[in-house]
Amino acid sequence: MNENVKIKLIDKVYINGEFVKPDGTERMNIINPSTEEIIGQVVLGNEVDARNAIRAAKEAFKSYSKTSITERGKMLERIHDAILSRATDLNHACMEEYGATSKAGDFRTGISADSFILAKEAMEAFKFTKHIGKAKVVHEPLGVIAAITPWNANNSQIAIKVATALAAGCTIVVKASEFSSLQTQILAECFHEAGLPAGVVNIVYGLGTTVGAELSSNPDIAMISFTGSVNTAKVIYHKAVDTMKRVVLELGGKSANIILNDADFTKAIPRAVTSCFGNHGQMCIAGSRLLVPEHRLDEVKELIKQAVANTKVGYPWEKGTFIGPLINDNQYKRVQRYIKAGIEEGADLIIGGEGHPKGLEKGYFVKPTVFANVTKDMTIAKEEIFGPVLSILTYKSEEEAVEMANDTEYGLGAYISSSNLEKAGQIASQLVAGTIYINDVTLEMSAPYGGFKQSGIGREGGIYGLEEYLEPKTILVSTP
Ligand code: NAD
Repeated sequence: MNENVKIKLIDKVYINGEFVKPDGTERMNIINPSTEEIIGQVVLGNEVDARNAIRAAKEAFKSYSKTSITERGKMLERIHDAILSRATDLNHACMEEYGATSKAGDFRTGISADSFILAKEAMEAFKFTKHIGKAKVVHEPLGVIAAITPWNANNSQIAIKVATALAAGCTIVVKASEFSSLQTQILAECFHEAGLPAGVVNIVYGLGTTVGAELSSNPDIAMISFTGSVNTAKVIYHKAVDTMKRVVLELGGKSANIILNDADFTKAIPRAVTSCFGNHGQMCIAGSRLLVPEHRLDEVKELIKQAVANTKVGYPWEKGTFIGPLINDNQYKRVQRYIKAGIEEGADLIIGGEGHPKGLEKGYFVKPTVFANVTKDMTIAKEEIFGPVLSILTYKSEEEAVEMANDTEYGLGAYISSSNLEKAGQIASQLVAGTIYINDVTLEMSAPYGGFKQSGIGREGGIYGLEEYLEPKTILVSTP
């Protein structure tokens, strides 16, 4: 057990530049998913707290929206520095509250801090005023933004939304996942440390049905930037329509990973395991459907077994761990249900299965699981599982592979492995997905990120992300 994080009480929300006692009084336990121990408590805010935060952000918008690019750039830099100065604390919080390994914690902190520099660069590169024909077009900040974020990428999701809002000249109210309070509290302290004007960034802990619902319907919220599940997004989208809020929805996926016959299978198959089991399988972009040529299935199965055997499941503080616990008991049970469904619907279980891995009976650990002979109508081929469960499907031709990859209601990502980059490019052009990874998974945070179809609406990242927080205003002048 890691002893760096002590039992902690989070009993303040961050509103108008101050940590204040919330109106809400309900307490929620913070549980370490590796040990099932209670490691803290958070006092949940309610609708009154959400309204107080929105009021503060609305007031702050009056002056913040008039700040210069230079002033905003300095604030973004200060937040970047503040986050890096708390890297160790964030890392511990990630491990204790989420089960992330130290390496994953460092990666998340780096991404969060970088978001502020990248938002600064996008803001500096963006032409806020353009001339189109006789018109002058000015891009104005939308107003008060509501950020609603999930537990699987807490820090980076808060960071990218806050960074983009600030770069655009908007103010923001954040409702992070109720399962991520330790990390969120540290970020709140970083925003405070950075000396932002009061009310520019506000953070309210709370449930989706209270704080989230208020943010989704309150007329003073101009836009909701939401990352989470499709089902929650639909509830939010419905609520937002009454006041015509703008929405950016970053949702789930069931991404296909196509291994072409000419790929180097000894590299592509271990990569397929990593791209599905990264973040313990709790990844929106997980390559959870592996599409392989039918005549190579036996070879794929052997390589998969080796790759999974080389993937360590264990406590996040142990050296070499790649797969830690799932976030909570609900998530554990959900993934168990999917593994059971795979078995019952007749898929071929080649590794893993139901229950805990040996020696990890306490904590929300699941066995990394791979099914072969999965058909497209099976539950495990259609639904987002959000755990380390990989489904192998086979194709007879490349045309069929493309058709299978696109045969999903989602469209977040897709992966292609091939030694022929031209062919991989042709396949990429036929895939209906927001991001395509060819041969390896790399990150370009300045490029647009988001989904086709039910994987979302709008984009985050760089100038595309910035534009979502701005409204163009056309000014046409005639002589009097
Ligand atoms: P979730 O939809 O259950 O919750 C997300 C957030 O919405 C939480 O803060 C929650 O409290 C809030 N919420 C719940 N009900 C609400 C309501 N009625 N009104 C307003 N807010 C409400 O998702 P989760 O389980 O926290 O996260 C996992 C999901 O997020 C997966 O589907 C995953 O694919 C997706 N995700 C997508 C991306 C992306 O960038 N596309 C990134 C990370 C996660």
